[in-house]
Amino acid sequence: MDQVTYNGLTFEPYIRREQIDRRIKEIAGTISAECEGKNPLFLCVLNGAFPFAADLFRAVDFDAEISFIRLKSYEGMGSTGVVKEVIGLSEDIKGRTVIIVEDIVDTGNTITRLLDTLKEKEPAEIKVATLLFKPDALKVDVKPDYVGFAIPSKFIIGFGLDIDGLARNLDDIYVLKENN
Ligand code: IMP
Ligand code: MG
Repeated sequence: MDQVTYNGLTFEPYIRREQIDRRIKEIAGTISAECEGKNPLFLCVLNGAFPFAADLFRAVDFDAEISFIRLKSYEGMGSTGVVKEVIGLSEDIKGRTVIIVEDIVDTGNTITRLLDTLKEKEPAEIKVATLLFKPDALKVDVKPDYVGFAIPSKFIIGFGLDIDGLARNLDDIYVLKENN
């Protein structure tokens, strides 16, 4: 597919599906080297991470488990802005290796909040796997362990990433065109 349009905004192809596939297999290899034999729990952060998590998890060829969580946002907390609560975590993660699977780390606020919440549950270790990472947008000191692609601070969609709930079903990743 060439250009796509959502909400009157035009996006152009940025990372093709074949490239995504190759990179996910590489990440799975790195994770295998570090986590094989630990029966890690992959924690997919819904909604955006579901295509990445599905492909990554299937590319892993050792014993591992997967579960799904959501971050519920609350506004109106004064100057702190949006506070996120973790919902859906039914597993006991105490003493386990946990691999958080995210679509994107932008300012880093979301992943930091999630890490803080999960650490209270005393896992043995927590790793962060993110398909995309915008290092220039980081506002907190957090470093994902496994990164698919480090990208500039541009708005992207597709392969799980949305614009107002749409475009998650695009097979490739698209970037907002300049001069829209
Ligand atoms: P954070 O700024 O690291 O806390 O990221 C918050 C959330 O913003 C991510 O989980 C995504 O849902 C969303 N987000 C950040 N950058 C993009 C983007 O380029 N496209 C679509 N969603 C994004
Ligand atoms: Mg998200």
